[in-house]
Amino acid sequence: MRGSLPEDLRDVLPRAELDVEAALEKVRPICEDVRHRGAVAVRELTARFDDVEIASTRVHAEELARALAELDPRVRAALEESIRRARLVHRDQRRTDVTTEVVPGGTVTERWVPVDRVGLYVPGGRAVYPSSVVMNVVPAQEAGVPSLAVTSPAQKEFGGLPHPTIMAACALLGVDEVYSAGGAQAVAMFAYGTEECPPATMVTGPGNIWVAAAKRLLKGRIGIDSEAGPTEIAILADETADPVHVAADLISQAEHDTIAAAVLVTTSAELADAVEKELPGQVSATRHSERISEALRGRQSGIVLVSSIDDGLKVVDAYGAEHLEIHTADAAAVAARVRNAGAIFVGTYAPVSLGDYLAGSNHVLPTGGCACHSSGLSVQSFLRGIHVVDYTREALAGAAAHVSVLADAEDLPAHGAAIRARFDWRVPE
Ligand code: NAD
Repeated sequence: MRGSLPEDLRDVLPRAELDVEAALEKVRPICEDVRHRGAVAVRELTARFDDVEIASTRVHAEELARALAELDPRVRAALEESIRRARLVHRDQRRTDVTTEVVPGGTVTERWVPVDRVGLYVPGGRAVYPSSVVMNVVPAQEAGVPSLAVTSPAQKEFGGLPHPTIMAACALLGVDEVYSAGGAQAVAMFAYGTEECPPATMVTGPGNIWVAAAKRLLKGRIGIDSEAGPTEIAILADETADPVHVAADLISQAEHDTIAAAVLVTTSAELADAVEKELPGQVSATRHSERISEALRGRQSGIVLVSSIDDGLKVVDAYGAEHLEIHTADAAAVAARVRNAGAIFVGTYAPVSLGDYLAGSNHVLPTGGCACHSSGLSVQSFLRGIHVVDYTREALAGAAAHVSVLADAEDLPAHGAAIRARFDWRVPE
């Protein structure tokens, strides 16, 4: 992509063709089944998609306690540190109510109220994500959500329970309402409720295409966060970047999924060559080399050569990556110019892997270009701002004439009448 940039960059950039629309048709009957038959349907769908029979979707408290007791102490220590750092960041995101005096005696207060009940989806198909428990639960707790439930796919290997590390992470965070359910049926369980799980007001969390499709389908019936689908990394790099680090970071995100995206945008043909040379060795040395190779070979991954950092910024802004690393001279200044990304990682010592687990930032981030209009999960995701309007008689009198005029201009005279009724049907001058 040397030379002038195409008009609409989004048409030419590598991107997975994630057909959530097509998946909608497949998840519709799943969601309808859960709506009509509740927990029985969730259990049957679990047998079909997760290949394990379960007696109940609800996980008993003793199972959570056992998982915590049996948790590897090193994993426990790492999770505790991850929780501590995430709490520091998310606590600072808390909103305070703000009252604005619009006129003497007339105020508007924005009151921040947490949603009543959230269902948090923790993926568990190809990989298990105890880190996603931390990333979902901590902001919900810091927002003050009063009722909070976690669901994660039933694991055949563990007798139909969620993965033990996920259960242990829930126990560490003080979450005692946990379900064994994954995919679209889990989202429907929260949307409609079942005899085993009361309905939730909102469902959040990342997941595969079935989870994303169910969230899109049931949005409105239940609140959702962004559609956090298959992982993406974009790296904006110049000739100062280290090809070993760049290759390692591309691989680290390709490890999530065969349809994960890894995109290098660089001003340096030498760096591009060096990364291409570096990748095969690193890929073959890693455990999930097949999955990674498929992700790197896919049409969603690739290297984009640009003429300047300015053009590179246009490319990464058009792409709107979930994760964007900056490996350039003066990386902080370049990062400050980025407009579209789920999260930005500045320089050599802030790789995405740090953000996945321990930076303190949230790893549930918008994918598929949604970073152009949506944010990652945060305390704000769980809050609603309610405007509280409080005017005295005198303050209303001062607004009455303008309200009447505007209401008449919209041909809504009853609006003006509602004001006049308070002043003996005469609008104060
Ligand atoms: P998952 O929990 O999202 O999905 C597993 C469930 O999918 C199963 O329980 C099953 O019920 C359902 N399912 C499987 N095949 C199905 C089919 N043919 N029809 C209907 N339902 C089916 O786990 P996963 O598959 O490992 O996917 C996790 C995804 O989350 C990955 O793509 C990963 O990249 C992504 N992720 C994203 C973020 C983010 O913040 N964007 C963070 C972590 C993970």
